[in-house]
Amino acid sequence: MKDTLQYLFREILRYQATIDERSVFPDAQALKALRVFEEPFPEGGTAPPELLSMLCKYGSPATVATTGGRYFGFVTGGTLPATVLAAMLAAVWDENGSMEGMSPLNAKLEQVTSKWLLDALDLPAQSAIGYVTGATMANFSALAAARFALLHRQDWDVGARGLFGAPPLRVIVGEEVHVSLLKALSLLGLGRERVLRVPVDDQGRMKADALPELDDRSILCLQSGNVNTGAFDPATRICQLARAAGTWIHVDGAFGLWARASATKRQLAEGLENADSWATDTHKWLNVPYDSGLVICRDPEYLKAAMSATAAYLLSSDRYDPFDFTPEMSRRARVIEVWAALKYLGRQGLRELIDRHCRLARQFAEGLRDAGFQILNEVVLNQVLVSFGSAERTRAIIDALQRDGTCWCGGTIWQGKAAMRISVSDWKTTEEEVTRSLSAIIKIAHKLG
Ligand SMILES: *Cc1c(COP(=O)(O)O)cnc(C)c1O
Repeated sequence: MKDTLQYLFREILRYQATIDERSVFPDAQALKALRVFEEPFPEGGTAPPELLSMLCKYGSPATVATTGGRYFGFVTGGTLPATVLAAMLAAVWDENGSMEGMSPLNAKLEQVTSKWLLDALDLPAQSAIGYVTGATMANFSALAAARFALLHRQDWDVGARGLFGAPPLRVIVGEEVHVSLLKALSLLGLGRERVLRVPVDDQGRMKADALPELDDRSILCLQSGNVNTGAFDPATRICQLARAAGTWIHVDGAFGLWARASATKRQLAEGLENADSWATDTHKWLNVPYDSGLVICRDPEYLKAAMSATAAYLLSSDRYDPFDFTPEMSRRARVIEVWAALKYLGRQGLRELIDRHCRLARQFAEGLRDAGFQILNEVVLNQVLVSFGSAERTRAIIDALQRDGTCWCGGTIWQGKAAMRISVSDWKTTEEEVTRSLSAIIKIAHKLG
């Protein structure tokens, strides 16, 4: 074990030391070499040093270098060293996070970390948090709580009776709703097409004056941080209307919710504290390893009721059992890395991380605008949309940039227009990484004419 560990640590250090020099997306040779894994199920076993060396030799070069500071695709985030080290320890411990009786450590860290999170995000202090795999499951869990609550108020126990014959619920979303939220609705039997869609403005923000009539049989889903523009639905006004009507307000804030931890960006996310539930990721902007997200519910009893394995919900017990708040029972103690991120950063570090990424997004936008390209969004957060002219040209530049390997940006369509999307969310990204990436983008764009 000791020799293998030493070997592995050397390989890990080598990986991290060379991530800067390699192509961000694996090159053709590295991808081709993945064929080595194509073998029938082996009759005999393989010793750990041997199989680890196979992973290091063929796996490492084929990874997408999302942790190297120049991956700007989707909103992936990187991993803070403290969280990676904590995750390694967590793997050694192999704690089962389902119940306090199975891991008192996990239960303790969840309780403490939940208080920190509600403080950092400035959300109601009595809210419950479930540690789930990501924002998709967070949306799912929050909407399950909403479904339970609204039907419970109409004397319908959805846990026991399901939706068959239940009073109908309405779900209201913005035209720019994230697909994962629609997926959650479909999993919950609420239907991805049964939704009322509210028109949005040119940044993808819900138009408050275009809301349908609100009532206490409706779930209204707001978005904090549009995956293309980074824009926020105007929560203050909408929450006021929705709360007065008894509507359940849910917020999909997969990355945008973290704006609440920033002094300069906080105003974008103002009013969200009035919602009933929130979904966010920790594996995106908090730079925690996958899979890690949070479902946050103002009234813990509703989340508990929706997630409970038994029919004895609503009878609160004093014991803190994490599986009362998540769809899974057995699961890894994923709070360990969330705790490590917050303990490492502290309030100031978290604020600086968010602020720096927003500043670097502006650096990208200014650099590209100065080079003569069109920025399609108001760069309010960490997302930048750039057009290089025609759709063909924009796509050709994205392809060439991805092959070049200096950095990685993806393509998207924004309100009918092809664009390259830049998302700054890795702690390793500094001004230098942005400068280097900008010159690669501009050089490629000029070369393609
Ligand atoms: C990424 C994202 C999701 C889905 O999150 P996962 O962690 O991939 O499950 C949902 N909503 C928004 C706005 C996102 O950006």
